[in-house]
Amino acid sequence: MEDTKLTNVPGTSTFLNKSLMPSENVVVCSAVVHDTYDEITTPESRHYKLLEDMIRSGHWGCLDHVAPSFKITCPIFVARQILRASNASFNEMSGRYKIMKPLFYEPKNLYEDVKRKELGETPILISKDEDIILEVYKLACTSSWSAYTVMLERGLRKEQARMVLPLNTFTEFWMTLKLSDWLHFLNLRLDTNSQMETRFIAELVYEMLKEQFPSIMEYWNKYARGPINGFGTIQTP
Ligand SMILES: Cc1cc2nc3c(=O)[nH]c(=O)nc-3n(C[C@H](O)[C@H](O)[C@H](O)COP(=O)(O)OP(=O)(O)OC[C@H]3O[C@@H](n4cnc5c(N)ncnc54)[C@H](O)[C@@H]3O)c2cc1C
Repeated sequence: MEDTKLTNVPGTSTFLNKSLMPSENVVVCSAVVHDTYDEITTPESRHYKLLEDMIRSGHWGCLDHVAPSFKITCPIFVARQILRASNASFNEMSGRYKIMKPLFYEPKNLYEDVKRKELGETPILISKDEDIILEVYKLACTSSWSAYTVMLERGLRKEQARMVLPLNTFTEFWMTLKLSDWLHFLNLRLDTNSQMETRFIAELVYEMLKEQFPSIMEYWNKYARGPINGFGTIQTP
């Protein structure tokens, strides 16, 4: 039986189609379809200036000529939140065909379960029994893994043996969204209301999108980035 490992890094993200991705020039060229761009090229600077206006005023259709794909590895409880992005295409590894990895997520800090007024409130560190909680946490991971492997060794199907594994085991999936949908996703998941581990994944995606589409992400940050406000609307145009 492989030893179980605990990690407090909540995941990784890889930009799968980065090398196939057109630059943000494609967005500008598509915005001036009435001009003569028959291929994606470096737009005239006057056209490039449109980009800021477009992002600010909500002409986001042009963003959707690009559809970045990421491979995300994260604990199952994070994946369940991310998979709610209903416009996305997903392909997830299957525990029916593949033996799961003995890798478990362990939070860096343990927080007190206080009654919250808002999801995004600053958490309070737990004040007692931290050692006992950690011990129980680790025990749950190792004992579920040992049950999983014993059942596999006795010939049980992977799809059934996996049923004893907890939500902090890791999964991996591909996720593709059009760019405007990624911006919506980031608005929801970079926000402090979002669970810390899910925010961590959103930050990885955000950094990679910033590198690929620097002006678009700069203008989004300036004009359209915003949390869910007090009325429950999201501040995208
Ligand atoms: C902090 C947090 C807590 C949550 N808690 C729960 C929970 O307890 N239980 C539960 O079942 N679910 C929960 N969810 C999931 C939530 O209800 C949504 O299903 C999920 O976040 C997907 O959001 P959505 O419907 O806005 O986006 P999608 O379903 O992905 O929306 C589809 C597309 O519509 C567009 N769109 C939607 N809304 C807007 C808007 N306001 N402005 C601009 N474009 C828009 C975007 O392009 C988006 O990509 C939670 C989500 C968050 C962020």
